Amino acid sequence: MNLSTAIAAAADLLLGARCPGCGVAEFGACAHCRTQLSAARPQVMGLGQCRLTVVAAGSYSGVMKTLLIALKERQSMGLVGVLGRRLAISIAVLASVRPSERIVLVPVPSARAQVARRGQDVTVALARAAAVRLRRAGVSVTVVACLRHRRRVADQAGLGVTARNRNLAGAFALRRGVPRGEVIVVDDIVTTGASLAEAARVLTAAGRPPVGAATVAATPLRRRA
Ligand SMILES: [Zn+2]
Repeated sequence: MNLSTAIAAAADLLLGARCPGCGVAEFGACAHCRTQLSAARPQVMGLGQCRLTVVAAGSYSGVMKTLLIALKERQSMGLVGVLGRRLAISIAVLASVRPSERIVLVPVPSARAQVARRGQDVTVALARAAAVRLRRAGVSVTVVACLRHRRRVADQAGLGVTARNRNLAGAFALRRGVPRGEVIVVDDIVTTGASLAEAARVLTAAGRPPVGAATVAATPLRRRA
């Protein structure tokens, strides 16, 4: 038995620790689930309404979906690192389109009620983890949470395309300036792209149009649209 297997066995015995992806005894995501995540193919798509290029590291299905749900709904914050590395891939794809000395990552703001329920802003945490990975690869990158909600919005889950757009139109505002660099909007999941489009609208109006948007995953709904 090697050390990591022994640690997993001890975790199972003493803590009941399980991989959130498949349930085997493990601290965090197991090697098998990590391999499955790594095999996901990045997807590049265009958001027609704002001509924004969106890159997702994989589809919102299988292990990717299970781990994102565990992170967001069960506060499995140990998954921030592994999913943040997926987000870093999407960002690297966009950054290679328009190379810049510095990248500015702007997270889509989470609703205040979500942040309160989860204890932290998951999107900001993912962006920071992605930035750590990119800096290790020599990329100059900073995370600037410069967007805020200017009014309450309904939970997007369960809303159709038109209702999502209406729900978020004019919902965000800048709360501080955007530093020098190529701007990339980041989020955990792209579904219809309403949040990304609203973020891009605010940044463009401030004279800082984003080069694109990067997400961890894309829903099949978005791919069909
Ligand atoms: Zn697993």
